[in-house]
Amino acid sequence: MTNYLIAIILIYIYICITRNYDNYSLVPIIYKTIDIFYKKRVGKRWCNICNSNQIHGVFGKDLRPKTLCYSCNSLTRNQEMIKTIIETISPKKHPNILYFAGNTHIKKCLESKGYKVTLSRYHIKEERIDMTNIKMNKKFDVVVSEHVMEHITNDILAYKSVYNVLNKGGYYFVSFPININKEKTDETKRNIIGRIKNYGQHDHVRIYGTDVLDRIKDIGFYITLVSPKPFGNYDQYIKDNTFCLILKK
Ligand SMILES: [Zn+2]
Repeated sequence: MTNYLIAIILIYIYICITRNYDNYSLVPIIYKTIDIFYKKRVGKRWCNICNSNQIHGVFGKDLRPKTLCYSCNSLTRNQEMIKTIIETISPKKHPNILYFAGNTHIKKCLESKGYKVTLSRYHIKEERIDMTNIKMNKKFDVVVSEHVMEHITNDILAYKSVYNVLNKGGYYFVSFPININKEKTDETKRNIIGRIKNYGQHDHVRIYGTDVLDRIKDIGFYITLVSPKPFGNYDQYIKDNTFCLILKK
């Protein structure tokens, strides 16, 4: 009996890895397993990355319902980012995108709209680009980073590096977790327990507060959108505790 169970689990993991996920993380597999116990929180919704109606399951410590796309493993915040990019820039005027922490599904989706996408993925050595010291042989019209800044010890250096790799008039779409009830960004916690407790994850080095706009004001960007509130109205960002800025060079 136990052997059968182990075999089923192994086949299940194999199917999840080979069919759906392009970075071999166990995270979506774990959440899909949790879904067995939270059936009511799983259901179909539109995925603009898959471009079809797909089953979405729970995600996050609070097990947010209908958040993780079963087909492409994108989160609703990834989908909101894609929507924001397509609504803001045209592939005719701003074709070249450097995308941090994206995946092949996101690349394919944007390329089908006419953009050219260069991916930087941390877990793939050949594709890894140090965000604090971006060395590329060309400049880009657009840089995107989703939930990366909270992992970087010197985030200001990363903002500067992005600024330097952008063409004049280029855009930087950046999202990160924030505590909108806190005024001051907290990066004082150094140990794993403190970071999990205060920043939500062991490898997060800070939780931004509403002073984030002050932190980056000297870099040279124009801030063209802050979402959620006061300018945006993307419900899903709020549910995901995500803050999205669109910065222009
Ligand atoms: Zn999808």
